[in-house]
Amino acid sequence: MARYIGPVCRLCRREDAKLFLKGDRCYTDKCGYERRQYPPGQHGQARRRRPSDYGQQLREKQKVKRMYGLIEKQFRGYYYKAARMKGVTGENLLQLLERRLDNTALRSGFASSHAEARQLVRHGHFLVNGKKVNIPSYQVRPGDVIEVREKSRKVQKITDALGNLDRSPLPAWIEIDRDKCTGKITALPTRADSSADIDEQLIVELYSK
Ligand code: SF4
Repeated sequence: MARYIGPVCRLCRREDAKLFLKGDRCYTDKCGYERRQYPPGQHGQARRRRPSDYGQQLREKQKVKRMYGLIEKQFRGYYYKAARMKGVTGENLLQLLERRLDNTALRSGFASSHAEARQLVRHGHFLVNGKKVNIPSYQVRPGDVIEVREKSRKVQKITDALGNLDRSPLPAWIEIDRDKCTGKITALPTRADSSADIDEQLIVELYSK
């Protein structure tokens, strides 16, 4: 599946939010958003106009899509799947995004950004319930155990990420064992497990037009 390969700091500047797309760099004063808090491009420093309702909905959707490193087709697919599920569509959408294997690896502290987690999954560094899974979109379920493969435990990116595990809040739905390099899914992620900065209702309004 295609993915965005352009400059990423401009995505944070476009969305006017830190999306933490670059791992360690996002926590330093080299962060592009911290240094230039205005949108990218020739007219970036012009006064921002108040966005229309549609503009707000579009920006929210773009922000979440970029947070999880997805392209439009994938993201829209998650929306339609969420709309078909029982319950609140916006919360279902966030739950489906959280349950992606690459996101689970990131939340478990085995990677420092979504892009890195995706690459590690693609390169076959993880087992799910003892079997190799290299599909970033794989949906984890309660009871699943994700594990860094024995011979991958010395991969620099993984050891570095585990060293920074305490930097962000630990997820309530994953039981992490740092020594064994495992994460057990204990429950489905709830709304509280996704970023509080997301207004998922705006995304639902956008797609349900
Ligand atoms: Fe965004 Fe990270 Fe770049 Fe800062 S360093 S602008 S948080 S991707």
